Amino acid sequence: MANERAIQGTPFKGADRPSRSFGAGRVCREPHCETRLSMYNSGKYCYEHEPMSVPRTRGKKIA
Ligand SMILES: [Zn+2]
Repeated sequence: MANERAIQGTPFKGADRPSRSFGAGRVCREPHCETRLSMYNSGKYCYEHEPMSVPRTRGKKIA
């Protein structure tokens, strides 16, 4: 297995080149959510709306 590029130090500028990532500039599919998705996020929703992931708590207390 030969890695042509190391994960770190890759001069990726997020330009209009298609890459192996899932695309930059995507937005959560939740209607009123404008959270940008990480290009490493393979889902269609942000972390808060991702159905299969545990929602992150942002200062909210969950009993
Ligand atoms: Zn969302």
